[in-house]
Amino acid sequence: MAYEVTATRKRPQTFDSLVGQEFVVSTIKNSIKSNRIAHAYLFCGPRGVGKTSSARLLAKALNCETGPTSTPCGTCELCSEITKGHCSDVIEIDGASNNSVDDIRNIKEEVQFHPQKGRYKIYIIDEVHMLSKSAFNALLKTIEEPPSFTIFIFATTETQKVPATIRSRCQQFHFQLINIETISKCLKDATKDLQIQADNDAIFWIAKEATGSMRDAYTLFDQIVSFSNDHITLAKIKEKLGLVGFDQINNIITNILRKKNDEFIVQLNNMLQSGISVEQCIKDFANYFRTMLLIKQNIKDPNILGAQVKDIPEIIINSYNVEQIEAGLELFINLYKEIKYSINPRFELELAVSKIQKLQQLASPVVIMDKINQLKKELLLEKINSNSSEPEIQKQPEIQKQAEMQKQAEMQKQAEMQKQAEMQKQAEMQKQAEMQKQAEMQKQAEMQKQADIQKQADIQKQAEMQKQAEMQKQADIQKQAEMQKQAEMQKQADIQKQADIQKQADMPSRIMTEQQKTENNAKLRQNQINNNNINDSIFNMDKLPAIIDLMKNKYLKVSTACQKISRIEQTEKSLILYTPFNFNYTIMKENEKIIRAAINKICGYRGPVSFELEQIKHKKQNSITEDPFVEETRKMFRGKIQEID
Ligand SMILES: [Zn+2]
Repeated sequence: MAYEVTATRKRPQTFDSLVGQEFVVSTIKNSIKSNRIAHAYLFCGPRGVGKTSSARLLAKALNCETGPTSTPCGTCELCSEITKGHCSDVIEIDGASNNSVDDIRNIKEEVQFHPQKGRYKIYIIDEVHMLSKSAFNALLKTIEEPPSFTIFIFATTETQKVPATIRSRCQQFHFQLINIETISKCLKDATKDLQIQADNDAIFWIAKEATGSMRDAYTLFDQIVSFSNDHITLAKIKEKLGLVGFDQINNIITNILRKKNDEFIVQLNNMLQSGISVEQCIKDFANYFRTMLLIKQNIKDPNILGAQVKDIPEIIINSYNVEQIEAGLELFINLYKEIKYSINPRFELELAVSKIQKLQQLASPVVIMDKINQLKKELLLEKINSNSSEPEIQKQPEIQKQAEMQKQAEMQKQAEMQKQAEMQKQAEMQKQAEMQKQAEMQKQAEMQKQADIQKQADIQKQAEMQKQAEMQKQADIQKQAEMQKQAEMQKQADIQKQADIQKQADMPSRIMTEQQKTENNAKLRQNQINNNNINDSIFNMDKLPAIIDLMKNKYLKVSTACQKISRIEQTEKSLILYTPFNFNYTIMKENEKIIRAAINKICGYRGPVSFELEQIKHKKQNSITEDPFVEETRKMFRGKIQEID
């Protein structure tokens, strides 16, 4: 037996085997049973739902040898001829190819002749809406008053294209789309007939793809059986037919939501590379958005969805509102319509997928109008009372809320950017401040270093000064000690002198009488008094240290020069100071006033003071020894010694 496609093999031969059209079947059955047979029928409905099959079944039911019956035998001559399609009394005409008025005129002429074998001459005109207007007009009179043995059965997928004048003369039957469950059941029966295995999800997928058409389901089933090796699986179907699964679209949408633009474009490219056509891609995207829209509207029935609810992740469904999903669906539906005029369908697909990126920001004109009105209202209210706008905000629709959230997100983003810029600025300022600080610290360190050096220098200087001062002090002490020594020596000399005088005075007293003693004592006392008087104005070598000492503090140079005075000569009207050194002589002469004042202070002498340069020869004569101490002592005591002499 030759290969027969499943659609033909499974064509229903009884009204009971016609699935999914229960209302139509029961109506036709009842009309046959009650013998109320019309002369014109109009079967409307989508392709592949059983219109032609029903027309043939009706023809059989009317012409069967056992009939007219709702259950034709299917085995009599007429039944089998009708099944095979070459019964002379059942004429099938394709309206699409026989649509001219001449074709209809032929029918009109034939209609007059009686059926050859059966009770009725039945005309089945498929795709009747394809007839021309004049053809319809030609047909009109015939179907209005046909011979009693003639029956017209028209079938159409587009009822609205059939003129109302025709429709009103026909009994109309509306055929329904067949649901997925019914198709699945029929497909499972078909796999049993062919003795092949089929996964449930694969069967479900075929049933869904058929979109309610049993013929489409069988055709697709035949195609899949041919490559499935006796086991139909969904993976094989996707692979062989080049289909886009929901999982692939899920990945693309997820990447779009995550703003990974490069990845979703690569994924789209991979899909097209794997052999899936652009058209199929667009269809799958449209189906995806349709399913999403239905899920969003809380529809969970797989028959309606054409998928399971779990096929699309919740996170994707929650990312869009109904309007945005509708826009997405519209985008791909329109794209499918326009694709045939496109210069490159692939570009169109890429553009459409790229547009999904902005879907989340989409708002329809209605929503925008609502928003504008809302804002208007708020502004007006604010004018009246600036505090009364708060409750209005709470009434805002979801879309507005989302827009606000978006706005907030943008503001947050801007704020973050600003923050970052500020932080950078601060960091730079900090850096600069640190650099400045470091520079200052370096400067300070240098200054400190310099100060330290200065300090050390000062300390050294101070130490040196202290040292010098100490040396000076020591020198002073030594000098004082020397002077003290000199003073003591002078004292001793004075004591010695007094002792000598006493001795001299005592010596005569041993011989002198008491009176003489008394006289002598008086004389000595007088002498002493006289001496004191003379001493008041007499300046001699004894008093020299006193003026040297006096001048030492204020006139050190003069004082030093005076130390070199070798001899003093005093008359009543003059005082001559001798020195052997020319240098000292000059100093003394230049400072005559100072020396005279000092002498005056020491001994009360007010007379003139002159200076003479003593001859070295003279000095040498007087020199007894070269010992400086002895010489000094000799100089010191000379005046007194001379006096004593
Ligand atoms: Zn029969």
